Amino acid sequence: MTETTTTTPLIELKGIHRRFEHRGQQLDVLRDLNFRIFAGDQVAIMGPSGAGKSTLLQLLGTLDAPTSGTMLFDGEDVFARSSSGLARFRNEQVGFVFQFHHLLPEFTALENVMMPGLIGRMRKGEAEARAMELLEKVGLKDRVQHQPGELSGGEQQRVAIARALFKKPRLLLADEPTGNLDLKTGAGIHAVLRELNESTGVTVVVVTHDPNLAETMPIRVLVDQGQLIPQIPGDDRLKGRVSDDLIDQAPRDP
Ligand code: ADP
Ligand code: MG
Repeated sequence: MTETTTTTPLIELKGIHRRFEHRGQQLDVLRDLNFRIFAGDQVAIMGPSGAGKSTLLQLLGTLDAPTSGTMLFDGEDVFARSSSGLARFRNEQVGFVFQFHHLLPEFTALENVMMPGLIGRMRKGEAEARAMELLEKVGLKDRVQHQPGELSGGEQQRVAIARALFKKPRLLLADEPTGNLDLKTGAGIHAVLRELNESTGVTVVVVTHDPNLAETMPIRVLVDQGQLIPQIPGDDRLKGRVSDDLIDQAPRDP
């Protein structure tokens, strides 16, 4: 579901800078980074280890804040919110999936997925119905009573994806969700992300190491020298998403 539109981007990063200070040394991981993500986009973020992919994802999810620069969500300055406003934003609008699934081992797949509902005081029956619907969507209808230890790595990640979508976030962020999986299983995870994007409209941003997996996503960017450039120089799909002069840029040697 990828369209370049003239409408307001779901997310707009403007002049984002992220500097870390570590033992007296300064490291500028993201430098004047500009990027627009539209509602319904499927984005793959690539780049070598240490390039700043996780840093970027954490900013998108407001788990981290930029040193300077602005992030607009639906045109609104996200980091201008109070800390409770930010927490509410994150809770309502963002779903996260990580390399390790972080499922609770003593609970079933169904219970893991409905957990955000129970914490949010949703009625149990309602939470269960929603969790069942999501588990069916990720292809685990016949695994709902299994505990994480009784599921394969790919199935565990599917449960984690279902859980991340429980609250109907607009944005699903996945940081190397296939990092622990073989290529075929990883391809299945990417397929699930695409299907969910198409059936629910959720905007998907996934960090991946694997160029074969990145190719399954229509929008592909590299984190390179603190900026975002196309994985394929001249990629027109990035028009309106990164600045025109960056579209033609070729990746530099790391
Ligand atoms: P990637 O996900 O692309 O492998 P990261 O975004 O995790 O890279 O990290 C980018 C760089 O920023 C690395 O050099 C890392 O050591 C550094 N970095 C990340 N988080 C911190 C932090 N909290 N404090 C200091 N340095 C950090
Ligand atoms: Mg990382």
